[in-house]
Amino acid sequence: MVSEAMRQLGAQGNPMRVLFEYGKQREAIVGPENVFDFALGNPSVPPPARVNEVIREIVNGPRADAIHAYTSAAGDLEVRRTIAGSLNRRFQAGCRGEDLFLTAGAAPALCACLKGLCCPGDQFMVITPYFTEYRIFIEGAGAETVEVPAAEGTFLLDIPAIEAALTPRIKGIVINSPNNPSGVVYPRKNLKELGALLRRKGREFGAPIYLISDEPYREVVYDGVEVPWVPHCYENTLVCYSYSKAISLPGERIGYVLVPPSMEEHDAVYQAVAGAGRCTGHINAPSLFQQVAAACDGMVSDLTAYTVNRNLLYNSLTEMGFTCVKPEGTFYLMMKSPEPDAAAFSQRAKELDLLFPDTGSFSCPGYVRIAYCVPTSRVEQSLPRFRQLAEQYGLQGK
Ligand code: PLP
Repeated sequence: MVSEAMRQLGAQGNPMRVLFEYGKQREAIVGPENVFDFALGNPSVPPPARVNEVIREIVNGPRADAIHAYTSAAGDLEVRRTIAGSLNRRFQAGCRGEDLFLTAGAAPALCACLKGLCCPGDQFMVITPYFTEYRIFIEGAGAETVEVPAAEGTFLLDIPAIEAALTPRIKGIVINSPNNPSGVVYPRKNLKELGALLRRKGREFGAPIYLISDEPYREVVYDGVEVPWVPHCYENTLVCYSYSKAISLPGERIGYVLVPPSMEEHDAVYQAVAGAGRCTGHINAPSLFQQVAAACDGMVSDLTAYTVNRNLLYNSLTEMGFTCVKPEGTFYLMMKSPEPDAAAFSQRAKELDLLFPDTGSFSCPGYVRIAYCVPTSRVEQSLPRFRQLAEQYGLQGK
């Protein structure tokens, strides 16, 4: 007998991955050039050249033995101090190596925070649309998920809606900016308003309301848009970061939790994160990539292709008559379904071998998400299919 809840999770699979697997099968039948897979956020641009040089230097260097060894559970202290130094230079974070807990990417960082914070009966708030796995991570930590929609039209934080949903049972909120799937970046004013609300409500309830800021796309932004340092807007923020997207290392599995010095009961929160890691089998983040992260923190892959793709897709799709949210960051574009049932729209696109999921699994019906982290040639070649789709819906192109 197995856990029925876990069996179901394993059997379902994530809808993006299901589509991606379908794409592979379809490619075998009609040829890869005829399938346009916009399902997964798998970066297509290579890591900065320096990343590979650093790997070579470490592998051939005097401490090569250490790259295979266990490190401290929280990560090598020198590595953490180097990353903290980079955060202090770039964001005036005022943090120490001892405030960082290195993880195998943002997903385990989120799980460690949630499991470390949640007590029986707690709830955690998420803002719709949100990364599909949050609900699974929250429920895995024994808490309940409370959904609050983002502001209509802008997809920013809707402060009055958040206030209306806050109760003493809400242990914290997960936010994600730049946002997957909307591509929106929360401006400083919006974050400061959230901080002021959480501070006021925390005082009223007699317990801090924690903010988990999930930031795997922190550096993936366009037109120089500012991504504010969230702990400067609210002191009780835990930052979850990943090197998966900005330097294109999703398979290497490296990221961190930062518990900033401003956190109330800092040491207890940090220990709870570490304890939750222990409880889920974390031993240490991959040793080699801890060192790579230290040497490469703050670097960004060449985002030219994503910028070109964003402009090409946004301009072409809106010209065809589709309604899109213009992404300020990430490599996702949200497009409104021209029929009320976005799953049916996604299915119709699939019949043209255009693969993108509807945003029902992001708890935001009525849209689809197009992951444009693909070579620009693929976006160019897909446009006639999008035009065909627009024609099927009788959209009025310009
Ligand atoms: N959070 C968001 C919003 C994501 O989009 C992703 C991955 O796509 C993750 C977390 C997980 O990232 P990682 O690869 O670092 O575990």
